[in-house]
Amino acid sequence: MTPSFRAALATSLLALAACRDPAHAAREFDGTTAFGYLERQLSFGFRVPGTPAHEAMAAWLDSMARARADSVVVQSWSHTTARGKLLQLHNVLARFNPSAAERVLFLAHWDTRPVSSNPSYKGDRSQPVPGANDGASGVAVLLGMADALQRSLPGAGVDLLFVDGEDYGDFDSEPNDVLIGSRYYAANQPSGPRPLYAVLFDMVGDRDLKLLPEGQSLLGAPEVVDLVWTLAREIGHGDVFIDAPGRGPTLTDDQVELQKVGIRAIDVVDFAYPTAPSNLYWHTPDDTIDKVTAHSLQVVGDVGMALVRKR
Ligand SMILES: [Zn+2]
Repeated sequence: MTPSFRAALATSLLALAACRDPAHAAREFDGTTAFGYLERQLSFGFRVPGTPAHEAMAAWLDSMARARADSVVVQSWSHTTARGKLLQLHNVLARFNPSAAERVLFLAHWDTRPVSSNPSYKGDRSQPVPGANDGASGVAVLLGMADALQRSLPGAGVDLLFVDGEDYGDFDSEPNDVLIGSRYYAANQPSGPRPLYAVLFDMVGDRDLKLLPEGQSLLGAPEVVDLVWTLAREIGHGDVFIDAPGRGPTLTDDQVELQKVGIRAIDVVDFAYPTAPSNLYWHTPDDTIDKVTAHSLQVVGDVGMALVRKR
């Protein structure tokens, strides 16, 4: 046996073994490619509204969506902050099967935080957050899903929504300067059928990913939480999607703005980054690429695609 033949045989045996694993056989989401999309986002720099990096990222998202989706809606508007700053913001909506009556919506925020406001952070708080996890991870999953949807169109309609301005202001003292994009979308939804439910992916790249049902999601759309966590268990990801209601965080995030207009929205989020309650990396300059993995994106992307194919 020549070395190259041996290598080829080993590869095909590996492929055979992989195909016997039902989760892998069904796998159409590519976590490695998704991780590349995460790296690409970080290459723009800090995606803070009002900066050139933010505009460059918006243009890239727009091009990525147009290259994959059946139709793309870009919502651009001006937002004046509590401190009087004028921001240009952009939501990007990538639509698959735009005329389908039965639809599901997935969303993630693509902006990153301008300041390191983690209360336990002792460094320079004026530093922006790189957002490898808080921002880039959810977007990477949605873009990986867009690849899979382009390869094989679902029977149902799927909308992938990239929202801007989630993480700009202070969540307590400047409520109008956070969740800006999801609030704008909620007030300016495209005409036609509304989604059956919506799933937000936020902070889903943590190398020690543990996803516990989030409190506002359990209150506002418990049946969607049940659907997602049950399906995750069925495809072999019950070790990450841990079905322990009451043990997860309760967060003010984009799911709340969609719930306010009657969308059954939930937040899939790992707020222990790396461990609760310290969350050493969250909203600090340490939210960097070494803290996130392709495997975590793979798990979340698998569940996203399983939801799409279930319809
Ligand atoms: Zn954040």
